[in-house]
Amino acid sequence: MTERAPLSRKLSAIAESATLKVDAKAKALQAAGRPVISYAAGEPDFATPQFIVDAAAAALTNPANFRYTPAVGLPALREAIAEKTARDSGLAVDPSQIVVTNGGKQAVYQAFQAVVNPGDEVLLPAPYWTTYPEAIALADGVAVEVFAGADQDYKVTVDQLEAARTDRTTALVFVSPSNPTGSVYSPEETRAIGEWAVRHGIWIVSDEIYQNLVYPSTGSGQAGARAASIVEAVPEAADQTILVNGVAKTYAMTGWRVGWMVGPKDAITLAANLQSHLSSNVNNVAQRAALAALTGPQDEAERMREAFDRRRRLIVAELAKIEGVTVPNPLGAFYVYPDVSGLLGREWRGKTVRTSLELADLILDEAEVAVVPGEAFGPSGYLRLSYALGDEQLREGVHRLQTLFA
Ligand code: PMP
Repeated sequence: MTERAPLSRKLSAIAESATLKVDAKAKALQAAGRPVISYAAGEPDFATPQFIVDAAAAALTNPANFRYTPAVGLPALREAIAEKTARDSGLAVDPSQIVVTNGGKQAVYQAFQAVVNPGDEVLLPAPYWTTYPEAIALADGVAVEVFAGADQDYKVTVDQLEAARTDRTTALVFVSPSNPTGSVYSPEETRAIGEWAVRHGIWIVSDEIYQNLVYPSTGSGQAGARAASIVEAVPEAADQTILVNGVAKTYAMTGWRVGWMVGPKDAITLAANLQSHLSSNVNNVAQRAALAALTGPQDEAERMREAFDRRRRLIVAELAKIEGVTVPNPLGAFYVYPDVSGLLGREWRGKTVRTSLELADLILDEAEVAVVPGEAFGPSGYLRLSYALGDEQLREGVHRLQTLFA
């Protein structure tokens, strides 16, 4: 018998999402009755606000939504996204510069497909969200990691980017607030990076999905500082920047799968053509829900942000009490990213824990707490904890960690 032809080499090199994997393991243990507390999920624990759900229910009664609609998105939603982009990213765009995607994830994928050629180098600040290196590889690009540790609040500098730049560098990933670190670049830092990219004609893929989840550096009950969009800090960058965004995080809508990309018309046209063959329009009911989210009252989103802020303060303060753990203060998203290198090299039950991967396993086995190891996002020595879970659970989980490492 003739041997079967091989599988795709390109896809064989793509790893399963590590964050989804840890989360799935935690959920499986919970389903089996274990009292596992999971800090692994990258999603709000709140229900989607009712007025958004109502808009979706109403959409189900309109037969127009049972049909194919434009692959690039419903006209009304693209209008609303243009308004949001002007409001929150300080950039005036025409709706034709927007493609509505199946979550921010598809926007990330399509952004690299649109601007990367085989062998192009894409500068990727690390720690990074797990999807970027794979999306870059799927576009035949080469991800070049630029690492920033806890000592620099996990934010790369222009000097570091410049040191990593070669004549094959064509794009940069910029994420503020960041997953996994929660770091937010200051307007000055953002401007410096944007100007550097403009100087060298480098594309910027700017992921703004956590843009509305920012917190004050001091005091409580205040609005967060604005995370300046790179196109607002450097308007000249707009012609070489693709903004990625979505409703998932701000409105507790991860399962609805609505995101979008905004960029110069030529790049957006390429992405739109790709999407017309890949997935066509996003589910119309979900698009109607996203439209309600963007155009409706924002007070519930603000209440969720305030809850995240409260939990952020709690988890940062409690983690900092553990010896060997260094916790920079995250100013955005809903993650905290402690440096746990001080806990490595120690022995538990006769076994030396050398990496954060082993530490995360130990924590799950001994404390029944799920965290994502730094290896999922770059170098070992870190853990990512999402504080998007109920206050009670949040307290109990950190208490277990404090007990384990006492
Ligand atoms: N960008 C970042 C930085 C994220 O953390 C996520 C979700 N984990 C996404 C994009 C994608 O979000 P979604 O596809 O759910 O809209």
